[in-house]
Amino acid sequence: MNSADHRGNRNGMGTVQETSKRIGFSSQFLNESLDEDVQFFLTEEGKLHTYDDLTKVNPVTPSTVLKCLQARYSAKLFYTHAGCTLVALNPFQSIPYLYSLDVMEEYHCTPQFHESKPHIFIVAEEAYRNVKGQLEPVNQSLVVSGESGAGKTWSSRCLMKYYATVATSSSVATSQNTVERIEGRVLDSNPIMEAFGNACTLRNNNSSRFGKYIQLQLDRCHLLVGASVQTYLLEKTRVAFQPTGERNFHIFYQMMKGSSTEQKKEWNVFDGQSFVWLPNANKTLEEDCFDETLGAMGHLGINTEQQRDIFRILAGILHLGNVGFSSPSEDSQTCDLEEHSKEYLQNAAELLGVAAEELENCLRVRTLKAGNQSVLKPCSRTECFVRRDCLAKVIYAEIFEWLVSFINTSICTNSSAWTNFIGILDVYGFECFQTNNLEQLCINYANEKLQQHFVSHYLKAQQEEYVSEGLEWSFVKYQDNQGCLNLIEGAPMSVFSLLNEESRLNRTSDAQMFRVRLEKELSDNGSISWDRFSQEPHFTVAHYAGNVNYQIQGMVEKNKDPVPQELINMLQKSNNNLLQKIFAKIEEQTTKGLNKVTVVSKFKNSLENLMRILHSTTPHYTRCIKPNQDCKPLTFKKEEVIMQLEACGIVETIHISAAGFPIRIPLENFILRYGLIIKYSKLKSAHNCWDSGIVNVKKHVEMLLTVVLEQDDSSPQFKDGKWTSLVHCGM
Ligand code: ADP
Ligand code: MG
Repeated sequence: MNSADHRGNRNGMGTVQETSKRIGFSSQFLNESLDEDVQFFLTEEGKLHTYDDLTKVNPVTPSTVLKCLQARYSAKLFYTHAGCTLVALNPFQSIPYLYSLDVMEEYHCTPQFHESKPHIFIVAEEAYRNVKGQLEPVNQSLVVSGESGAGKTWSSRCLMKYYATVATSSSVATSQNTVERIEGRVLDSNPIMEAFGNACTLRNNNSSRFGKYIQLQLDRCHLLVGASVQTYLLEKTRVAFQPTGERNFHIFYQMMKGSSTEQKKEWNVFDGQSFVWLPNANKTLEEDCFDETLGAMGHLGINTEQQRDIFRILAGILHLGNVGFSSPSEDSQTCDLEEHSKEYLQNAAELLGVAAEELENCLRVRTLKAGNQSVLKPCSRTECFVRRDCLAKVIYAEIFEWLVSFINTSICTNSSAWTNFIGILDVYGFECFQTNNLEQLCINYANEKLQQHFVSHYLKAQQEEYVSEGLEWSFVKYQDNQGCLNLIEGAPMSVFSLLNEESRLNRTSDAQMFRVRLEKELSDNGSISWDRFSQEPHFTVAHYAGNVNYQIQGMVEKNKDPVPQELINMLQKSNNNLLQKIFAKIEEQTTKGLNKVTVVSKFKNSLENLMRILHSTTPHYTRCIKPNQDCKPLTFKKEEVIMQLEACGIVETIHISAAGFPIRIPLENFILRYGLIIKYSKLKSAHNCWDSGIVNVKKHVEMLLTVVLEQDDSSPQFKDGKWTSLVHCGM
């Protein structure tokens, strides 16, 4: 193996030895003096933006990688390869020329598309050619990751548009018009899901509050014939609670801004009215586009009656948010409605299609079952608010689920019509806030799972493969996050198992006691720690992307996510058709005992399904980076970028890709493509081998390589059955 070549190259094997230590880095790194290699590298300053693959950078250090990305960002080059991963820097400005039809065509039609400028379309095209080109096509997954506002959803939309454009046959589209319709419908699923599932947060004006995996279904001719969507963990608490400076889901604002006078009248909404659950309504966003949502709903086949039902329900939720309760008076034990709330409660009941009296009772009085007897117990003021919020959350979450399954029926084709799929995964990035609770634990757990998939797929598998093929290789150390995953989801004892155990007990959970239990059971695991003297009981998890403190208060209750049966019973009698239909389904589930499934169990199951699918596909990774927290165009904050590079282990990835063999061709394909060389070679034995019809492919390849090497003395080395050139042929 050669020593490091100063220019470096995509396949620069010279860096292997240097990289055998894990390079941890932090913002402190930025101030460190640069070593000789880096100084050398910096003499290239003017050319930094030309490094379109970070594996070409030599030496690969956090500082050189950062400099390179910064130079490219200034030159408006937003995409850069990092070996097997694509790094996408968010431009925070519209760049139409970058995503035009001409550009799509360029990437789609160029045979050597890999050599074109780095672009999200390269990832798209590579996956597409994998499906098309292989003898045995393999399903593909495009995993888009990054923190909130980094550009995941934008990239996913670009990928979908790409396939909706290139995976079509114009002749079929005009003759049958079905293909065109399906592509349009697949794309129309985006505005609907974004209207109902996205919201303006402090980090991103259009932040997705759910995770999404969409499978684009391709037929035998590799045309897009359908799609199916799976969603994960909608942040339903947002319906009833919006953090300061943030907003509720877009759809509520769209309704208020884009509806007709008649609609407003129907919803009992008038100008100047303020809804508690509609904060920051003055903010004008591009996303507040009701017409687009309605258009998409229409295209997907959600009829006007269903649309009317949906919007009446949502308006009902807004009115419900203005219902308040006063503390019980001396002579009555129940909490009364606040005076101004009566009208809102009336409106809410009317729009939700339920009796106002029943709604009021359901919110203020609890029914306890004792054998066959029911006992009524007045709720405390806090409990009344909890029940009100719970009603809004369960309705909203069920409407969202209904929409997703409607979308699926509208865009999914029957299984005999498609042969392969390309899946696009857009899930929330790693989260670490001032206070973190069950939602963040689930999100960060999902990110740990994806990181493990990445590590095992690219890093571990790649190294193991080199060893099994007898290639010279020295190990690059990578951070294995199995310990952290064991802590969160492992058996028999983990945070999830203890949470579930506590949730099943019919008692109010005490946060401090639960912390002690966690400590007792899990202190052997190095990924968890505590500050025992903290006022707020919490635990700290050492995630691959950093430490996160999780508040214990409220966690068990969130995991139970109980919905009072009285509320369900009331909704089942609603005269709003949609609401009644949706909740009729819940009854069946309840009788089967499915409502006992806790939040973490449900999430873990859906994530395990996702991981199974991902493992059965060829993955392609795109890491989106947010160059500054203020979402400003052309602003590159080094400290912020380096933290994100660290969180996704990009430098390790570059090292391994740079040190490895990026081009792998199965022996059979290699022979199919290059076998003719033997036929035209001067080598007698090769001729014999070709004519006799070779059975042993490996022998055949060896023969072919001998022929090539005979013809060119300067070719790379092939000795003793080992091939250490830039091209690695493996099974
Ligand atoms: P995420 O899904 O990672 O939270 P988004 O995809 O919603 O982030 O991106 C946040 C915002 O950044 C978008 O609304 C858009 O304004 C901008 N953005 C992201 N990627 C691009 C891009 N490639 N070109 C232009 N603007 C972009
Ligand atoms: Mg998003």
